[in-house]
Amino acid sequence: MTNEYDAIICGGGPAGSSAALSLARHGRSALVLDRARFPRTKLCGGLLTWKSTRLLATHFGLTPDDLIRAGVVNFVSDRFAIHTFSRTLAKGMLPFPFHFADRAGLDALLLDRAAEAGAVIEQATRVTGCDPKTGEVRCADGRRFRGRYVIGADGANSRVRAAIPTVDRERMHRYMAPAIEIALPPEDFPRPVDFPELYVGFLEAGYGWVFPNRDRVVLGICGLRRNKNDFSALFDEFLAFLGVDPGAVTDRKGHLLPYGNYLSNPAFGRTLLAGDAGGFVEPLFGEGIFYALCTGRYAGEAVADGVKTGTDPGPAYAARLGRYVLPELAASDRLRWLLFKGMGLFGPGGLAWFVGALEKPLAEMVHGMRSYRWLKKKEWDFKAGPTAP
Ligand SMILES: Cc1cc2nc3c(=O)[nH]c(=O)nc-3n(C[C@H](O)[C@H](O)[C@H](O)COP(=O)(O)OP(=O)(O)OC[C@H]3O[C@@H](n4cnc5c(N)ncnc54)[C@H](O)[C@@H]3O)c2cc1C
Repeated sequence: MTNEYDAIICGGGPAGSSAALSLARHGRSALVLDRARFPRTKLCGGLLTWKSTRLLATHFGLTPDDLIRAGVVNFVSDRFAIHTFSRTLAKGMLPFPFHFADRAGLDALLLDRAAEAGAVIEQATRVTGCDPKTGEVRCADGRRFRGRYVIGADGANSRVRAAIPTVDRERMHRYMAPAIEIALPPEDFPRPVDFPELYVGFLEAGYGWVFPNRDRVVLGICGLRRNKNDFSALFDEFLAFLGVDPGAVTDRKGHLLPYGNYLSNPAFGRTLLAGDAGGFVEPLFGEGIFYALCTGRYAGEAVADGVKTGTDPGPAYAARLGRYVLPELAASDRLRWLLFKGMGLFGPGGLAWFVGALEKPLAEMVHGMRSYRWLKKKEWDFKAGPTAP
């Protein structure tokens, strides 16, 4: 096995698979290093919006029907509800259904697609550090690899990001939200769940969720806390409100979610960051799968083009993000503070009115058919990058 590649991709989640697929399709050598063995678990509600399903279809060739047939998508719902602990704020129909995916199955399938296209995958290989100047990547087992470029797709606690001196670590830390999630057999939940329910009003910004699934009910909370209150105690309150005995829940798991700390220039030296590693998660609803797929693809295509033309891929990557992704994240961030601060100051009535008055365009905005900027029609760049054959 050689240890020199056009790109070394640290992390084989949606961002890493997407980047690896782009590079392999463009005939570039790509090595994916992941500390886990796939299929591996990933704490996640698995909710896929319209734009996620579009990108999975155009980039990976996987339509919603393919994902259902593969058993990866196991629930589809075209309804939703938003509540506080005391009232229902909105309940309605969606213009396109939410698809609920099992992340272990989805991520394994996407990584297989990258391998079939020609990427080399090394599982159970933990990255311990990298040098942005030389492109050297060090692993816990003592091996070292060298990439012309390194794509950090290694999630919220990225080792690659830790090696980049220009990252504002204070901001990255401040907007890294804790999340707790559990999955219950449907018979252990007090009532049937047929569509996603969101609960707001008990976090500075963020929400609790109850998501349906074929064989389980997924409950979680994620967000920024008022006065740094004990997140586990907040989760207990949420469970008790839903009628679930917190004492009977033994397998609660936590994970960090980037929540408003996206980087506007996620490239330095020979490194580029994609997905959670670059903070690319939508700051209102915490949607990250789409942004991981999208930024992974852009990073892979920028590197493929950079290697072909002998130019630095960083500026091209940043420019494409600046055109299609960052404006959405910035507008969603503004909307989040408007809604959550408004609810804190004036109560939930304003939010109920807002969602009620704009139900259809807001649902289209969440799906990505409309932009978070003034609900304008959103054009995504789902076509292949500049060097596509
Ligand atoms: C509780 C919770 C619920 C969520 N629900 C949703 C949802 O319903 N819908 C949605 O769109 N988003 C959701 N998200 C966000 C979504 O899960 C992430 O944004 C998405 O997984 C990011 O993909 P990624 O590829 O960037 O990172 P990841 O999926 O985290 O993948 C990173 C990969 O890197 C590997 N890795 C990490 N460190 C190293 C290392 N040192 N060396 C080698 N490999 C390493 C990991 O093993 C992993 O495979 C949720 C997040 C949380 C925490």
